[in-house]
Amino acid sequence: MAASAWSSPLEDVTQAIASLIGEDTRHLPSLAQAERLKEIRQDINRLEARFTAELRVFDKQQGWVVSGHQSLQGWLRRTCQFSSGAATDRIRLGRQLEELPQTAAAFQEGRLSAQHVGLVGRLASQLGTEAVQPAEADLVRWGSELDTREFRHLTQRLRHCLDPEGALADANALHEKRHLGLAQSWQGLFFLEGQLDEEGGELVRTALEAIEGAPLAGDNRSKGERRADALVELARRQLDAGSLPERAAQKPHLHLVCECGTLRQEPGSAPAELNGEVLVPQETVRRYGCDALLTVERKGESPLAEATGAGRVVPPSVRRALQRRDGGCRFPDCDRPPEWTDAHHVVHWADGGETKLENLLLLCRRHHRRVHEEGWRVSRAEGSGWRFTPPGGEGWPGP
Ligand SMILES: [Zn+2]
Ligand SMILES: [Zn+2]
Repeated sequence: MAASAWSSPLEDVTQAIASLIGEDTRHLPSLAQAERLKEIRQDINRLEARFTAELRVFDKQQGWVVSGHQSLQGWLRRTCQFSSGAATDRIRLGRQLEELPQTAAAFQEGRLSAQHVGLVGRLASQLGTEAVQPAEADLVRWGSELDTREFRHLTQRLRHCLDPEGALADANALHEKRHLGLAQSWQGLFFLEGQLDEEGGELVRTALEAIEGAPLAGDNRSKGERRADALVELARRQLDAGSLPERAAQKPHLHLVCECGTLRQEPGSAPAELNGEVLVPQETVRRYGCDALLTVERKGESPLAEATGAGRVVPPSVRRALQRRDGGCRFPDCDRPPEWTDAHHVVHWADGGETKLENLLLLCRRHHRRVHEEGWRVSRAEGSGWRFTPPGGEGWPGP
């Protein structure tokens, strides 16, 4: 055989990958496609295993020195597009796998992914390789059956059992990294950014998910929008409950100041001010005014001097009757219970509407916003129902 006909296994693989990339699989049925994807993933695992093993040889020989690099980590970053953290993890994994032969074999056979093997390596870093070796056979078996999240959970359970002090030190280190930034942009949007330790994150997630509930029919908000609404609702409910500590001898609350003309939507009337800073559109003031006390300034020669408490709180007896009648938000398909709702004045009291059962209905915050700021109309439907009409649309009878 001529020397030119000889090719190395790596060249064969490179050529095979080129052929694979050229294949048109769009006609394949889904089941066959699923099988192919699994096979490709297994081959990727095996190549990752081979890469890690050869990297270990390169590491021992200090092969990166020849090309003028200061470290193997730097060489991986520059030549193989690894991040610093990923490079460090991979080098350490190559070293650890020499002492974890069952894990290395499962990696080479494609039964464990690089992420799974990385979790075994992380455990070995935390406990010491000798402590992991007795459990290695079980780890390999579980690793080939569990997804990454489940396997991470399992390895961390082992960590907590075998090294409770180390687990506490980890939790404390995560706790030290917590922070939360809340800043307003010049356009008015508030930006939140931060990180929480595991306990804090789980607390916040549990509270937000409880408020979010399951998506209902017709709820086309994205996951992020639903979560943002839930966070605002969480804060609102805390403030409404009045259980937060006082500041300047007052329970913390939103302070909304407006003119009578703003509530009546008179042309040229000033915007309302929330907490003396944020300017609020007329329709938002009307929503707040539906079911809360506002501070209304009378326009006159000295408006500030005439500032007075005003607004409309639905009397408890009317509220109870309303809750009995409506049972919760009246918007179609909404399941929010009475305690999550505002009493909406169909004809606003600022326009002469009465705070009576016939002129009130319960709406959750999201749907209350919809009928104020988002331009939906509520009107009486036949019988005891309500009709909700989107801006420019046909009526949609509610329950
Ligand atoms: Zn309202
Ligand atoms: Zn609702």
